[in-house]
Amino acid sequence: MKDCEYQQISPGAAPLPASPGARRPGPAASPTPGPGPAPPAAPAPPRWSSSGSGSGSGSLGRRPRRKWEVFPGRNRFYCGGRLMLAGHGGVFALTLLLILTTTGLFFVFDCPYLARKLTLAIPIIAAILFFFVMSCLLQTSFTDPGILPRATVCEAAALEKQIDNTGSSTYRPPPRTREVLINGQMVKLKYCFTCKMFRPPRTSHCSVCDNCVERFDHHCPWVGNCVGRRNYRFFYAFILSLSFLTAFIFACVVTHLTLREFFSSHCPSELLVICFFSIWSILGLSGFHTYLVASNLTTNEDIKGSWSSKRGGEASVNPYSHKSIITNCCAVLCGPLPPSLIDRRGFVQSDTVLPSPIRSDEPACRAKPDASMVGGHP
Ligand SMILES: [Zn+2]
Ligand SMILES: [Zn+2]
Repeated sequence: MKDCEYQQISPGAAPLPASPGARRPGPAASPTPGPGPAPPAAPAPPRWSSSGSGSGSGSLGRRPRRKWEVFPGRNRFYCGGRLMLAGHGGVFALTLLLILTTTGLFFVFDCPYLARKLTLAIPIIAAILFFFVMSCLLQTSFTDPGILPRATVCEAAALEKQIDNTGSSTYRPPPRTREVLINGQMVKLKYCFTCKMFRPPRTSHCSVCDNCVERFDHHCPWVGNCVGRRNYRFFYAFILSLSFLTAFIFACVVTHLTLREFFSSHCPSELLVICFFSIWSILGLSGFHTYLVASNLTTNEDIKGSWSSKRGGEASVNPYSHKSIITNCCAVLCGPLPPSLIDRRGFVQSDTVLPSPIRSDEPACRAKPDASMVGGHP
């Protein structure tokens, strides 16, 4: 995180223990994904609100709090902030239950018979697929999807002042949009009233988690997290491997039923029904995301028709596309994984900085290099 954000904090703050990795300089965190230029508004660390999970007032000698404890979004953190999940994890638990039950039934009822009659490779392949599916699912669910820290009070005030200066002499409020040129395409940046900043390109505010997420794809309740820049590849690997696992189990159950020649009481035909109905939706989802990866699109952009030629009556092309399916796939799935910007394991250097009223004579914040705000937590 940046140093500046904490310099605004009241001098009565508790002394800080050294945070491992909190101040480790990371790679320059350009919020601009893809081939575009850097956006004008650099995201800033969160404003610490007294409504956080910790106690509000500060005093010397109190246990220093970690940033995840006062995180302003609606995420839940586990294992001391190492793992994070969206606020409502009920559907995620259902996903786990469905995968575990289906695979469990398969291993108990079908695998012994098929291994005995056909080959031992069947349970081995199923086990490998199952562990791959589970690891991809857990990585998607517990990884920071690319949350952008909210602007500090000082940075929000400076930006407000900047916006006011661009307003005309009329009574009309100044515009809350900016435009940047990305690969010859004009892209509009919208102001986020919650995070108090102009959203970088492809960033959207998730209403469920209450965070701005870089390269926001969608909020997926099934994985219990947003799908964004930092976990899209795991999500894609998850749905792709789940397609293979479902198709494999379906094929094995059909084989089992055929080999027995008639439906015996020991052969669970319910599994066949579960697989039959789930296979189409999972295969369809995999196909859709394969198209998105090949086009370097997000679900959000596809649904909104951001680069549709029909939009606004003028032709527009996706400026993030590399014009090649292979390059797009490599860029989306194999590109370097940016570090997490929210530094959730870092220590809060002060207790509370409540947003103060914006005054015109307020001194502007010191400019800080973007690279120093990176928490360095993968
Ligand atoms: Zn936002
Ligand atoms: Zn979300």
